[in-house]
Amino acid sequence: MLLAAAGLLCVKGTVDAQRAPGGDGTMRRIRVPILMYHYVSPLPADADDTRRDLTIPPDVFAAHLQYLTDEGYHTISLYQLYDALMQGTTLPPKPVILTFDDGYLDHYTSVFPALQKYGFTGTFFVITGRADAGDPAYLSWAQIDAMAQAGMSMEAHTKSHLTLDARDRDFLIYELLGSQESLQAHANVPARMLSYPVGRYDDQTLQITREVDYWLAVTTQSGNRLVSTSPLELPRIRVNGATGPTGIAYLLRGDWLDSN
Ligand SMILES: [Zn+2]
Repeated sequence: MLLAAAGLLCVKGTVDAQRAPGGDGTMRRIRVPILMYHYVSPLPADADDTRRDLTIPPDVFAAHLQYLTDEGYHTISLYQLYDALMQGTTLPPKPVILTFDDGYLDHYTSVFPALQKYGFTGTFFVITGRADAGDPAYLSWAQIDAMAQAGMSMEAHTKSHLTLDARDRDFLIYELLGSQESLQAHANVPARMLSYPVGRYDDQTLQITREVDYWLAVTTQSGNRLVSTSPLELPRIRVNGATGPTGIAYLLRGDWLDSN
């Protein structure tokens, strides 16, 4: 009754802020690795150090998916994670979340078919302004829509990929709400999940992220312990160019993490 009344009286976002901590009031800690990928494609001949660091060749990516299959991992979405953190719903055994930042074209040509081949799902953080501009190096709206319809999570990585720390309120609303609304309009998805560009945010970023009703947000901080009281600051585990075919076992084990 109280919740229903609050829903009627409060503007969007206010209800969400009152829901913390833990949705049903229970604080939960769950250990789930959220892997962070960028490019999955052959390395260009002129690749610089940054590109090398961000690129996994397709055969290495296939080896990762084979490892996950062989070891009995189940890919879950951030929505499943949200329900588990906030309501205590049960996750499948050995859950893992595969995330792909920036919405590069190879997410459609390389990652998407590989995930489908193994029966996995992924979460793709899209820079919506690239799709709006028709940039051929990035996913188009038609590709984003097709991936969403095939069960992939198509989520927000802002409109322009500018950093979100030390920004004013209007800028943050434009980037955060704008990208969410674009994904809703073009791919008919709620886009309640966010990845901060370059992992940068501050208190004002968190406040606006909460106000425009993102449910979870991922950072570039390293870790695998997820806490219901910090839904907008979830750590991930970076997969980089040095991660070989067997490197994923080391990353998933997580015994190298400071927090373990
Ligand atoms: Zn990015």
